[in-house]
Amino acid sequence: MNTPTLINLAQIQNRIKEACIKAERNPDEVKLLLATKTVPSEKIKEVLATGENLIAENKVQELKEKFQDLADTPHTNHFIGHLQSNKIKEILKYNVTCIQSLDRLSLAKKLQQRLDFENKTIEALIQINTSDEESKFGIHPNEAISLIEEVAQLDRIHIKGLMTIGLFSDDHEKVRKCFQKLKNIQQQVKALNIPNVVMKELSMGMSGDLEIAIAEGATIVRVGTAIFGKRNYPDTYYWNENKNIV
Ligand SMILES: *Cc1c(COP(=O)(O)O)cnc(C)c1O
Repeated sequence: MNTPTLINLAQIQNRIKEACIKAERNPDEVKLLLATKTVPSEKIKEVLATGENLIAENKVQELKEKFQDLADTPHTNHFIGHLQSNKIKEILKYNVTCIQSLDRLSLAKKLQQRLDFENKTIEALIQINTSDEESKFGIHPNEAISLIEEVAQLDRIHIKGLMTIGLFSDDHEKVRKCFQKLKNIQQQVKALNIPNVVMKELSMGMSGDLEIAIAEGATIVRVGTAIFGKRNYPDTYYWNENKNIV
C-alpha cells in the first residue's frame, strides 16, 4: 500500500542510492537509520514492515513508551539523544544496542559500571561537535581522541565509530566541512590502532544533507522528517536540555 510515509521512504531510499552512485560507493555501505522521535508506534511499524530495521530515539521516555508496541516487530534500537547518566539503566532495559551519542568520560564510566553489574556489553559511537554550535552536544574535535583513548579502556563499551550532526546551513561547503572533520578524526584514530576501538561507522547526514554526508563517507544516515513528516517540537527540545521551549 502506498501511504505517504511509504512513498517518502521510497524517495529516501532512492536518494541514498543516487548519492552512492554519484560518490562511486556501493549502496550496501550506507545504512538508513530511522530517527523516530515524536513518531507514533503505528507509523514506525509501517516502515519496519517493509524490511527496514534500524531505529533510534532521542529520549528514554519515548523509547519506553514505544517499547511494548514494537516488541513483536524485529528491529535494532540505537540511541541518538543526549543521555543523562541516571537513564543508563533504562537504556539497557529497552535493548539499545548502540549509543551513538557518547560524548563524555563521566557518562562512559557510569555506563561501564552498570554494564559490569548486569554482565552486558554495548556498542557506542563517539559524538563529536563538528559545527561549533552551542545548541548541540558532542565532544570538541580537539578532545575527541583523548576521550576515545579513555573510553577504549572500558572493556564493556565497544567503540564502533563516530557520529555528528552537521551544521544547519544552506551553505553546502560549510556543511561538508563538518563531515570532512568527522572523517578526518576517523582517519587519525584508525592510524593509532587503539585496542577495543573500531572506526567502521560514520553516522552523519540527515533529511537535508544526506547526499553531502554520503559523498564524504557516511555509513549511517539518520532520517526523520523526510520520511515521517515535520515534527511538532522544535529540535532544541531534543538537542539542548537547558532550553526546553515546549
Ligand atoms: C532528529 C534527528 C535526526 C533526524 O533529523 P531529520 O532532519 O528529521 O531527518 C538525526 N539525528 C539526530 C541526532 C536527531 O535528533
